[in-house]
Amino acid sequence: MTAFKLIAKLLKFKGFRCAGLAFRRRNRLDVLVKPYKNGCRCPECGRRGTIVRQRAEPRYWRDIPVGPWSIWLMYWPREIHCDSHGRVTERLPWAEAGSRVSHRFEYLMLRYCQLMPQKAAAQLLRLPTSTLSDLLHRTIGRLREGHRIRGLKTIGGLAFSTVISLIVVPFVYVLLDSLRQWTSQVREMATVRRRFARSEAGEQA
Ligand SMILES: [Zn+2]
Repeated sequence: MTAFKLIAKLLKFKGFRCAGLAFRRRNRLDVLVKPYKNGCRCPECGRRGTIVRQRAEPRYWRDIPVGPWSIWLMYWPREIHCDSHGRVTERLPWAEAGSRVSHRFEYLMLRYCQLMPQKAAAQLLRLPTSTLSDLLHRTIGRLREGHRIRGLKTIGGLAFSTVISLIVVPFVYVLLDSLRQWTSQVREMATVRRRFARSEAGEQA
């Protein structure tokens, strides 16, 4: 087994492979990834397109941390021409179009944020709380826009269903919203009661 195959196996890559590694400062590991076969699939219809150009700059996606290492996936996405959808960026098996994190990072982030406060989730995911809340908003925003998350039956051994994310996330939002409404109602009632007590006291005096 080659080192790259070993890394891909250790990190449980599905649908893509490891093509290079670079250890960076501050416990950061950049993993050069490539889609299996030739990639070049249209993100809309999944059909193979013709390459228009490859980006000059690599793009990075935050992946789930392993031990002390924060893992970043690295790749130069290609622009392709699809007969039905025109010029588009190829579909990537590890992340949603426009996302800055991998599918499985997104999954873990949503799960952690359901189970614990954002500060604790940020610690486990090894990132500042502000970054986590930014990423969370982006993900939820995208899910709410109705974008489908594709190819997610298994992400690195984690079972993930689009349905769960689409149902649970808005549900959590509704819950939080009703909690906010409820607390503001309680606060209002307390104010009214206080005013009433004060006016009664005034009348008695
Ligand atoms: Zn297409």
